[in-house]
Amino acid sequence: MGRPSDRTPRGRSNTPCADGSRATPGAHFYRALIENAGGILTIIDGEGVITYQSPAVRKAFGGQEEALTGRKVADLVHPDDRERVARKIEECARIPGAEILEVVRLPHANGSWLHVETHGRNLLADPDIAGILCVSKDITEAYRLEHQLREAEQLARFGHWRWVKGEPAPQWSRGVARILGLDGDELPAGGDWYEHLVHEEDRGELLSQFLDAFETHEPVTCVTRFRTGDSCYRYIKTYAYAEADAFGEIGALVGLAEDVHEEVEAELAVKASEAKYRLLTEQASDVVAYYDAQSRIIFISPAIERILGRSPEEFHGKLIGEELIHPDDFPRARKAFVQCAQDGEQVQFDYRCLHRDGHYVWLESTMRRALDSDGRTAEIIGVTRDISERKRHEMELLEARERAEAANRTKSRFLANMSHELRTPLNAIIGFSDILRMEMFGALGHERYSEYAQLINESGALLLDLISDILDMSKIEAGKYELHPETLDVKALIESCVRLVRGKAEENGAQIVHSVACGDDCEIVADERALKQILLNLLSNAVKFTPVGGRISVEADEFGGEVLLTVSDTGRGIPPDQIARLGQPFEQVTTDAALAKQGTGLGLALVRSLAELHGGRMAIESEPGAGTRVTVMLPKIPYCQVPQLPLGELVEDGPLPGAAAG
Ligand code: ADP
Repeated sequence: MGRPSDRTPRGRSNTPCADGSRATPGAHFYRALIENAGGILTIIDGEGVITYQSPAVRKAFGGQEEALTGRKVADLVHPDDRERVARKIEECARIPGAEILEVVRLPHANGSWLHVETHGRNLLADPDIAGILCVSKDITEAYRLEHQLREAEQLARFGHWRWVKGEPAPQWSRGVARILGLDGDELPAGGDWYEHLVHEEDRGELLSQFLDAFETHEPVTCVTRFRTGDSCYRYIKTYAYAEADAFGEIGALVGLAEDVHEEVEAELAVKASEAKYRLLTEQASDVVAYYDAQSRIIFISPAIERILGRSPEEFHGKLIGEELIHPDDFPRARKAFVQCAQDGEQVQFDYRCLHRDGHYVWLESTMRRALDSDGRTAEIIGVTRDISERKRHEMELLEARERAEAANRTKSRFLANMSHELRTPLNAIIGFSDILRMEMFGALGHERYSEYAQLINESGALLLDLISDILDMSKIEAGKYELHPETLDVKALIESCVRLVRGKAEENGAQIVHSVACGDDCEIVADERALKQILLNLLSNAVKFTPVGGRISVEADEFGGEVLLTVSDTGRGIPPDQIARLGQPFEQVTTDAALAKQGTGLGLALVRSLAELHGGRMAIESEPGAGTRVTVMLPKIPYCQVPQLPLGELVEDGPLPGAAAG
């Protein structure tokens, strides 16, 4: 630009010559030039006071250029810029020829602040200018755009860059520095920038993408790792395209760098976990399968090959079909599947499936429904395992149990028959030995004979007891023991049983007492013979195991619809670890062989079984050396047979409400 030769460039002539060429331009020429140029020209003196302002200022600031002349620049600019502007002008004014480049905010007539970039030069020594000549341009729009871009970069975690052809490195925006945790000046500017910035495994990929962009003129994208300020790496997505000039020449590569680290990490984590589950699924011995809502197999794990000898491919896209599932099991399997798909129930079912060899394999499938976002069945997930071994065991167990039950039934039948057959001759033995013992038809002669007759009679009685017990136990086990419940007077029952054992107890030097807490009219519906057997078995045990001076008591009480019969003694007691065994047939406590020999181990077993037949139970409490307490709890009315009382008997206080009206 030409330099005005006058301080106020008015008065110069710019007259064209006759030949059309221009003579040396005059002041008018320069004035016209300045007044029509777009830029704003300002001359300020050494104190920072405006001495000249070109007319362009009017357009830029919406005011009058004269209004600014004579005012101090520092007074016009934004308050935050004042100190800096004054200092810069002062510095520039000190050194002839010094230059300044500053962006300052100046007020527009409409009240807004304009960003103005000003280039100033100290021409104070130049007599024509005699001031600092400033050329300013309004960069408000560019500043706003850059500010917006910076904000967008910050918000969206991206930065931009521009790599001009021939330059060693791209020019990076602050956004790039920010996502890498660097200061703007820390970004490399040399030709080896990518060695500093890009992970060595990703460099080839990034550079080849750039080459592609150059060669194909197509935009490219790639995700590579960039080194951050703390020497870690972040995943950055690069978008790049080649920028062509007006002549179609590629002048630069421009692009965006977007921080996608979190997304990539999350994606990698999902992939890793997917891979882990896939591996688990594929390696699992159970078969994992996905079915669609129409029961078509979408995926089936390779374990199917081991179980059915069929490859997974054979199943893909196929329905779980009738041709493979055993016809007897198919309806059940289909029902379970439908139940799972429609009702969302988790189902488990077993079925037989055809192996490639032609034999059936027992499988067990557990199926669960997965819903899509609309709440519809998306797929069914099934886990299937080979349960052939378990089924074989179950079969074996079932057979063994059936065999054992059959053997038991045979045994019980045999014992019942045998006991019955033995009882007849035994009754004869007992009866006739009794006649002999009592010498009913005359003296036996020798006293040994009556002693033997006595022994025969006692042994016969013992044997009969044993046979009766065996017979009862066998009947119970064979389910043939029939109860004949009737209403019994508890007190009378206890008294009759006590009467039977009192002699033996006293013989042993033990006292026997009884009490009925539930009252004299306490009744129970039970089988009389069974109840007597219960009490006698308990009493004879108490008598047997209670030493001289001991005490035996029988109590009856009523609680919660049950009658509690308790026989307690102050005898030797039972070790705690043995109690649980008692009540099973032939179980005895083995500490005293002599006493054990006197019994069979059937007494308590019968008590327990008879109580249970009535819907009751037996409980043993004992302390070695202190005594034993056996309680039998029986429902007042046995569960096995609830007598159907006539309606009138239920209504004790009168007819049913409403019955009177009828
Ligand atoms: P047994 O015919 O042998 O008496 P039981 O079934 O009646 O068979 O009793 C099993 C065992 O329980 C007895 O051998 C004895 O050791 C123990 N037992 C039962 N009642 C008593 C008791 N009142 N005091 C001590 N031990 C008892």
